[in-house]
Amino acid sequence: MSSVSRFAPSPTGYLHLGHAYSALIAAAAAGGSGGRFLLRIEDIDQGRCRPQFEDAIREDLAWLGLTWQEPVRRQSEHLADYRGALDSLRADGLIYPCFCTRGDIRAEIGRSAAAPHGPDGPVYPGTCRALSAEARAERIAAGEAHALRLDMARAIETSGNLTWREHEQGDIAADAAPFGDVVLARKDTPTSYHLAVTLDDHLQAVTVVTRGEDLFEATHVHRLLQALLGLDTPEYAHHALLRDASGRRFAKRDHALTLHELRAAGHGPERLREILAEPAQLPAFLAAL
Ligand code: GLU
Repeated sequence: MSSVSRFAPSPTGYLHLGHAYSALIAAAAAGGSGGRFLLRIEDIDQGRCRPQFEDAIREDLAWLGLTWQEPVRRQSEHLADYRGALDSLRADGLIYPCFCTRGDIRAEIGRSAAAPHGPDGPVYPGTCRALSAEARAERIAAGEAHALRLDMARAIETSGNLTWREHEQGDIAADAAPFGDVVLARKDTPTSYHLAVTLDDHLQAVTVVTRGEDLFEATHVHRLLQALLGLDTPEYAHHALLRDASGRRFAKRDHALTLHELRAAGHGPERLREILAEPAQLPAFLAAL
């Protein structure tokens, strides 16, 4: 079977060397003939996304020598898909509205003796899970802003045991419980990272998800959502993050190490591809900048 892979950046800044590394790995995962490499623009966070960064993503990737299959999926144009998935989870009684502010959550956590931490930070204490159907309906009717959270205990009970196939590691047992009741639709956006990425990978028929190992833990949640929504499960291949000479991962604050700047400074894509194929060369390259 031919592979379908994707690179899925958020247009919230210029791509840096870490992105270039990740994009090259994703493109390679599509394999040669017959494989398809997709680009997806993860722009649900409209407050932080900028058109200029989206243009730069395309320019920088093309400069790097990558080609992808059009059309590019832009998440902001597919909110109806996410709404449909939420409707299905709601019909199964697996999500509930949460009216809490960050302050409410902090205060509630402060009051409890045990405040478990999950991979995404403090676990939601479940305040709104206990609201009656009438209270929910009343607050929604009053126009109170709310997020939608997954009822994690019920979701796990529904899905039973799950695994996913991790490249070079084999089957991993999925356990999303440590995340608690994750947000699937934010107050300001009718979806969330977890929901959008999982649904899109299915709708785009992605067969291999390559991404940085910082997203390995999130896969526990993605695998659960696949089971609840009847979606396909791709293979996953999380890769090590590229790090600078001091061991820090590249970030959007490292302005000089954006492809945009490297390009402006006269660096060529061939040399960069060589270095990224052999990250041991990276410290010397960075020291010479
Ligand atoms: N949009 C995510 C990011 O820029 C990547 C999502 C993914 O590959 O699953 O970090």
